[in-house]
Amino acid sequence: MPEVLTSRYLFGPGPSNCYPEVTAALGYPVIGHLDPVFIERLDRTCAGLRTVWGTRNARTLPLSATGSGGMEAAFVNTVSDGDVAVIAVNGLFGERMCEVARRCGATVVRVDHEWGQPVDAERVLAAHPHPKVIAAVHAETSTGVLSDVAPLGAGKGDALLIVDAVTSIGGLELLADDWGIDVGYAGTQKCLGAPPGLSPFTVSERAFERRIKEPRSWYLDIGLLGGYVGAASGSRTYHHTAPVTMIAGLEAGLDRILAEGLAAVQARHRAAGAELRDGLEAMGLELFAAEGSRLPSLTTVKVPDGVDSAAVRAYLLENFSTEIGSGAGAFTSTVWRIGMMGPNANRASVKLVLGALEEAIA
Ligand code: PLP
Repeated sequence: MPEVLTSRYLFGPGPSNCYPEVTAALGYPVIGHLDPVFIERLDRTCAGLRTVWGTRNARTLPLSATGSGGMEAAFVNTVSDGDVAVIAVNGLFGERMCEVARRCGATVVRVDHEWGQPVDAERVLAAHPHPKVIAAVHAETSTGVLSDVAPLGAGKGDALLIVDAVTSIGGLELLADDWGIDVGYAGTQKCLGAPPGLSPFTVSERAFERRIKEPRSWYLDIGLLGGYVGAASGSRTYHHTAPVTMIAGLEAGLDRILAEGLAAVQARHRAAGAELRDGLEAMGLELFAAEGSRLPSLTTVKVPDGVDSAAVRAYLLENFSTEIGSGAGAFTSTVWRIGMMGPNANRASVKLVLGALEEAIA
């Protein structure tokens, strides 16, 4: 049997370390997915998700899928053959959106941006006169860039706005209702401090009314999933066996965040991100993401000339049990990605990663 690995500092692009309350909840006994105790847990989880999404949408739920499953659900329920999807691409996950939308039958109008730059809402809104959907990534994990999606919501007209909030939810300001987000999907493994496996998902009334009535995916059909989550406990019907353990973990993570206070948690992420950026620059390193659009939760930094990016990552893992990420796409070996998310968004984590990195580079 391989040696049991007890701990890692997960300072990469995700998964992040879990809040201790989450780890404890993952050990709860498995109970039935229609057990009243579980149903109450699901209701509380949906309520907590509404808070971190900044929405009053009734249809806000933990989708039984990872973030990519949330992305599939967003498109398969909103676009079908010939529908126009305008998609902002400023990194890997915008690219993935294009592929998912194409497979759903959409005519994709791709609005490319230089990687490292935020989404230019004016260009996106001008790309097509009457798209069915407009989509963008709020926090591009591949580049460490935060984009302002509110102007897309303000200017979307008749279109539905789809937003990826995988690396922002639970750690950064996210106001789905105020920003006009119609369909949002996220992940649990980043700022929410829970394991990967669920996709916090939210759908506005407007999007629900205009959904594809029989989407090609049965599993991700939001019409059917509404009955599974149910407006009230009594109306809940079987759709699939809910991942009860994962939901217990997510509920504990949301409880932890809301007990600390969402604003305080966001401030903690901002402070950790700022201290990390300052520390990296003080070491003489150059940040990758455009100034003014740098994600607090995930910092991208250029690998100095002559330094072997993979060797440094291996050194950190071996000597400090510390994970940081490589770059994405064309930047795999020229950029590192350092996440300060969930329980890791604190000064101790920043100092640890800076010290370890300094030694590894020397
Ligand atoms: N979107 C963004 C911005 C992400 O960072 C990720 C994963 O890191 C995904 C989508 C896909 O999520 P998952 O890997 O959980 O399927």
